[in-house]
Amino acid sequence: MQKAPEQMEFVELTPSAPIKTTTHGWRAKCLQRLIRLELPVPRTVALPCETVRAIAAGQYIDTAILTKLLGQEFLVSVRGSPENPEWGGPGTVLNVGMNATMLARLTETHGAEAAEALYLRFVQNYATHVARLDPDMFADEPGPGVLRRTLDVYFSEMDEPFPQDAATQLAHVLRSMARAWEGTTARLLRQAKGAPIDAVLGLVVQDMALGIGPGLSGSGTIQFVDSVTGSGQVTGRFRGQSQGRKEVIEALYLTRDPRGASLEEASPEIFAELIKHGAGARQKLREEMQLEFAIASGNLAIIDAVRVVRSSRAAVRIAVDLAEAGVIPREDALLRVEPRALSELLHYQVDPRAPRDVLARGIAASPGAATGKIVFTASAAQAMAARDEPCILVRRETAPEDIRGMHAAVAVLTERGGMTSHAAVIARGLGLPCIVGCSEIQINFRDRYFTGPKGRIFREGDVVTLDGSNGEVLVGAAAMLEPALDDGFRTLLHWADNVRDIGIRANADTPDDARTARMFEADGIGLCRTEHMFFDEDRLTVMREMIFADTPNDRRIALERLLPMQREDFRALFDIMAGQPVCIRLFDPPLHEFLPHDREGMRELAEALDRPLSEVTRRVDALSEFNPMLGMRGVRLGVTVPEIYDMQARAIFEATIEASQNGAPIVPEIMIPLVSAQREVEIVKTRIDAVAVAVKNERKADFTYRLGVMVETPRAALRAGEIAEHAAFLSFGTNDLTQMTYGLSRDDAGRFMGTYVNQGVYDEDPFHILDVEGVGELLLIGAGRGRNMRPDVTISVCGEHGGNPESIAFCRAAGFDYVSCSPFRVPVARLAAAHFALLAPRKGVPI
Ligand code: PEP
Ligand code: MG
Repeated sequence: MQKAPEQMEFVELTPSAPIKTTTHGWRAKCLQRLIRLELPVPRTVALPCETVRAIAAGQYIDTAILTKLLGQEFLVSVRGSPENPEWGGPGTVLNVGMNATMLARLTETHGAEAAEALYLRFVQNYATHVARLDPDMFADEPGPGVLRRTLDVYFSEMDEPFPQDAATQLAHVLRSMARAWEGTTARLLRQAKGAPIDAVLGLVVQDMALGIGPGLSGSGTIQFVDSVTGSGQVTGRFRGQSQGRKEVIEALYLTRDPRGASLEEASPEIFAELIKHGAGARQKLREEMQLEFAIASGNLAIIDAVRVVRSSRAAVRIAVDLAEAGVIPREDALLRVEPRALSELLHYQVDPRAPRDVLARGIAASPGAATGKIVFTASAAQAMAARDEPCILVRRETAPEDIRGMHAAVAVLTERGGMTSHAAVIARGLGLPCIVGCSEIQINFRDRYFTGPKGRIFREGDVVTLDGSNGEVLVGAAAMLEPALDDGFRTLLHWADNVRDIGIRANADTPDDARTARMFEADGIGLCRTEHMFFDEDRLTVMREMIFADTPNDRRIALERLLPMQREDFRALFDIMAGQPVCIRLFDPPLHEFLPHDREGMRELAEALDRPLSEVTRRVDALSEFNPMLGMRGVRLGVTVPEIYDMQARAIFEATIEASQNGAPIVPEIMIPLVSAQREVEIVKTRIDAVAVAVKNERKADFTYRLGVMVETPRAALRAGEIAEHAAFLSFGTNDLTQMTYGLSRDDAGRFMGTYVNQGVYDEDPFHILDVEGVGELLLIGAGRGRNMRPDVTISVCGEHGGNPESIAFCRAAGFDYVSCSPFRVPVARLAAAHFALLAPRKGVPI
């Protein structure tokens, strides 16, 4: 039922008026707080959300009520007041109440020029936003005769003169703002920002503070922190507009400025007043606010206050500073920073203010930005790096043999691939900006160029910028912002560690990765992919000898050469991680990945191994598989070629003994990949236990270790109960598990993933956001069955999903012990985990 007009509740903002954010919107509440602080806020009246909704639905506005409240003549502004300032709302309308009488009065006090300019602006605003006339007809700048002409245009378009009754003007403005809120575009925009479907709007009507007049007059904004860095600094703008004849003050700047007079110098008293008001607002509103003010003949008015717009790095600094000053509790500081925003602080970013010439778009696979010259091969990347020239490696897709090229490049771009393709996973691990699945480019490897949309051609050596945070490839060198791992960042994350209740480890394969993991204060290494250790030049040859060995004995001889290298690798990881857990995954990929793919490579290999080319070709052919991801890899190699795992176990144990000599004993974790049957685990475990006994006897030293299983096949998840009999931990490899659950190749899905997501077949790319319905159910089944069999079994996720906030929420709710993700995703994961701990109590495993 509609309310009777008399009941329309306009409430004047006083310290005790019953104003709430939920009933009158944030702006009304904010202004009331400023009034309570005794800030000089002009008379302000709030219209409740309920009334605004009724007006939009056709409720009659009785102008008598407006007149009773504001008088016959008034000059006011109207601003929107939604519950949350992020939800937008109609633009402010100023100078409502301007008419011929007011024009005459203001002409007397402020001069004709100023008075006409005010009237003109109001007529233009009213004509376009309230009467909905064509803006082009109302775009003239103030000048002689312009006001008259504009009023004439209004008359001829509307067939009636511009309304002169202030209350009528206001009623129309209120109605048009109320309706604007209900428009489809406004609704979609606010819903995209998280507003509920029934979000409401309040309105605030305020006496105009004109900022003109004799003496010091003008208007501006002031804030007390820098919007980009968040550090304390007074910034803002001020425009003096004095019409006085005697004391013309043309202060143009807020603070002292070599370019001209400033408010700070023109009136230190008013400037000090603003500083005092700013401090009060910060304390009372528990936020860094930007004040909007006007000065009329030396009298200050505070018109409005809004939350300071801020970059991600400023958001961190501001939240920490507010908490350290005791203005907000630490928990609030944590919740005020969006976890994903942290990844911006870890990398170079394209300066958002800089111009961008976008040449192509792909999947944003690893955040950060870098500029470099285009190269098309790993060897060209290495050559460029040797000359200290930054380069961007462009490939159709990457393979393990490109790793050295990726190390040498500052960013990676691939035509194919999705979020868990080789390029994406490695780039995230290295902290390199990366775009994959960039099907808008076509690479011509022979002539070393690629063609972008509209036929634009980019050759080897051309400079481009890759923005891995949003998937855009830009032409030329873009302006950059530097990373910001400052004290504020570290402090916030320490607070996060104090409240989170799920472990965050890092996936780290090399000492460099491990150092990054330490720098980002991960709780250990959750996945060390040992195969990456075999791609260095010296190791690759030995590895190939091992693969080509004719007998187990020959194989053992090759492996003995790899043993000391592996021992050093593990020793380095243990030393860097200084007693934190290190989970080492035994060799996983198919062997053919270590063999050359082209004739030239085979010839070189034949030479290195001193064997005929025909034999090398035959052996390479024999090792190739129709479907290598489902072929002889992971534990299947461990069962059929057990010497590799024997060597790795020995290297781990010997490194353990050496690393434990300097401090507390290391307890290594050894993980078996791609398991699908209990018996596989038994076979591998028996051999590894035997190696442990042998090493203990030889070295006359003792150690313990934990053996666990990577759950990457649906069968392993279903049979997790019996598998857990032999496993101290189960770590879900959700990359392979997603691949196998969907029957979707992680390397090829990028080609159609965009179409699938756009058409709603999948809500999200399941390689990016964990599919909680399907893959998630397997996780719950696996965790539940594993724990039933072995209550103390450690459960974790080490696929790429581990760094994803939604997936962390799932794992935490399911009672997992930790997640493990690329080192550069660790900070986001730490903060996201803290958010979940603060917002939702932890439940047990729901099975
Ligand atoms: C996985 O499959 O989830 C995993 C972590 O292993 P990889 O990505 O090396 O296959
Ligand atoms: Mg895997």
